[in-house]
Amino acid sequence: MKATTCPHCGHSPAVPLWRKSTLGPAVTTRCRACNHKVSVSWTSLLTLIPMFGVISLTSLSTGIATNVALLAVALVLGYVLQWKFVPLVKR
Ligand SMILES: [Zn+2]
Repeated sequence: MKATTCPHCGHSPAVPLWRKSTLGPAVTTRCRACNHKVSVSWTSLLTLIPMFGVISLTSLSTGIATNVALLAVALVLGYVLQWKFVPLVKR
């Protein structure tokens, strides 16, 4: 089962890429095939770890451009981790 598979009907992808990447455990959306509510589990918060790591790294950096670039990379990495590895759950 892929991380984008609907837990109700098995349709994949159940939600668009942008929606899956922006889902949180307290936010639900509907499967585009069966219209049942889906969300992500609380383990999706682990995808924030790269962001916290980068925030701690920005205190060592001297340039704002470097900090912005690091934060952009961490944000994209978090989105990709959520898209690829955090499964959808029933709500
Ligand atoms: Zn479905």
